[in-house]
Amino acid sequence: MRLDAIRALHAVVGLGAGVAVTEVSDRRDGPLSVGIELVRRPCCEGCGGPVWAHGSAKVKLADLPAFGRPVRLVWNKRRWRCPHSGCGVCTFTDQEPGIAPRRARMASRAARHATRRAGAGRTISEIAAGLGAGWHTVMAAVHRWGGALLEADMARLEEVTALGLDEIVLFRRGRYREKHWGTTIVDTRRGKLLDIVPGRSAQGATRWIEARSPRRRRRVRWGVMDLSGPYRKTFTDALPRARQIADPFHVIKLANSAIDDVRRRVQNETTGGRGTKHDPLYRTRRLLLTAAERVTDKGRHKLRGLLAAGDPHSEVRDAWHAKETLRGVYRIPSRALAAETLDELARDLQDDTFSPELNKLGRTLAAWRTQNANWHRSHVTNGPTEAANNLAKLIKRVSFGNANFDHYRTRVLLYAGKPDWTLLDTLTPR
Ligand SMILES: [Zn+2]
Repeated sequence: MRLDAIRALHAVVGLGAGVAVTEVSDRRDGPLSVGIELVRRPCCEGCGGPVWAHGSAKVKLADLPAFGRPVRLVWNKRRWRCPHSGCGVCTFTDQEPGIAPRRARMASRAARHATRRAGAGRTISEIAAGLGAGWHTVMAAVHRWGGALLEADMARLEEVTALGLDEIVLFRRGRYREKHWGTTIVDTRRGKLLDIVPGRSAQGATRWIEARSPRRRRRVRWGVMDLSGPYRKTFTDALPRARQIADPFHVIKLANSAIDDVRRRVQNETTGGRGTKHDPLYRTRRLLLTAAERVTDKGRHKLRGLLAAGDPHSEVRDAWHAKETLRGVYRIPSRALAAETLDELARDLQDDTFSPELNKLGRTLAAWRTQNANWHRSHVTNGPTEAANNLAKLIKRVSFGNANFDHYRTRVLLYAGKPDWTLLDTLTPR
């Protein structure tokens, strides 16, 4: 009878034949505590000879809950001493990565579970509550196991033919809620977040790319970016053979900010700086930024009326036309015709009959003409970068106050980087 009970206990605890369950203590209000010990007497890690017992120390490990209750493994780690005088090893303790890696405070199976949950977008607090463990214990386990998974998953970085760079606000910190920036590195074709590095200067992304093997770098044929100098420099320096592409999303965004700038200025000039939300131009702001084909007949009518009332020199209307013309360029099927239209638009906008805001847009389009025209060669966009950014923002929302970059990076990549999760079952972190 007693033998059966021990076997049953073994089966329930489920750590395998090499592990003895020494006690189960059930205190009220506390977690279920399961004492364990390794069965086998080890050999010396140095010389392989027999060793002498040299005391033991108990290590507490958060484990998966059982029967709706949190569980602590209390591992009695025995200490061993090598008696062989010529051996360099003095003492060592029991190690069994199947139970938990060195210095861990969470059992391996619980750590894998926590890492998977974090990859599914769960917050650390939620996972901690489910395991009845502390926030820091869970974060450390997710970072350690997740980090090992990302490191093992090198296939993530293979076969990248279109690399996208984009800036992202990582978190705000300090008295003035200062923005801390990062750069997302994306496989633009597969819509996969590859990595995230601190800062939005050329340096961080350049270093990341230069850390890839020459073979991997050669495969990258397209470098996709917003209209920013630093990332252009990164591609020019680190991937000189890749064709650079300006991401349409960011190009249109630029045209939209030109509309906003013109509208605000004209509004100021016509109302003498006393603009209110009843001004006709203020009321156009959303309609102006909406794609023309999505504006209803009613909206179009309203827009015409408001512009007639508040835009005496047609400056806002011109800006709107510039934006829509630019959007139209991306629908032109012929590459040559698209490039020609783009050049024409850039030239026209720089004409002094247009507002200074449109002149500036024209100059920017001219400065990026190659990158803009290249989109028509490849049809890769930074759309997926935007998707990855949104995921990263989501993660940020659920990790309020988490301002540790390395932790953040691990969680974002587990969530948005689509790693090969099957690797997690076989690896043990260092
Ligand atoms: Zn030895």
